[in-house]
Amino acid sequence: MRNGNQPVGILAIQGDFAMHAKMLDRVGAPWKLVKRASDLDEAGGLIMPGGESTTMLKFFAAEGFGSAIKYFAAAGKPVFGTCAGAILLAREVLNPPQERLELMDIAVERNGYGRQIDSSVRQGECPDLAGRPIEMVFIRAPIIRRVGARVRVLGRSEGLPVLVEQGKLLAATFHPELTEDETIHRYFLEKLSH
Ligand code: GLN
Repeated sequence: MRNGNQPVGILAIQGDFAMHAKMLDRVGAPWKLVKRASDLDEAGGLIMPGGESTTMLKFFAAEGFGSAIKYFAAAGKPVFGTCAGAILLAREVLNPPQERLELMDIAVERNGYGRQIDSSVRQGECPDLAGRPIEMVFIRAPIIRRVGARVRVLGRSEGLPVLVEQGKLLAATFHPELTEDETIHRYFLEKLSH
């Protein structure tokens, strides 16, 4: 299946979706905001941004997003979750447990870095994507506590997995849309073209 001609949907119910749009403009990829489940029909892939996963879940319930996104992923369309978006993708959510899409076989602990360190910029390594350290912005970030057998760890920071993939699904606990580095978005876009 080729999804490359369709725009990338950016879930735009809450959170920093606008910065993902800016990044996609920079790399020359068409995008459209996804505000209701039917907006997914025209999208070749989906980015779920950072923000507040509990707030997003309220919209999910109200708008029927949960089953629509599961259907979208089951159709082989790529989905990229960043921070809160990664929490939504997970099979298991801790601290505290909450609803999730259960699409990716990972367990994530919300606000895993604690309250004192609300946000930080750290270096991380994604050896298969870039031969140099990547700057990573963490904002009340989750920690990936378990990765399933079919999940590949693509990036680590301070020993912890921070970028993982499972087939056409990609999850980052940091915010790649908040730096100048296009590596992660370009990698996701490759999933749309084959
Ligand atoms: N702590 C937020 C949550 O649990 C995620 C933070 C973020 O997306 N930057 O949803």
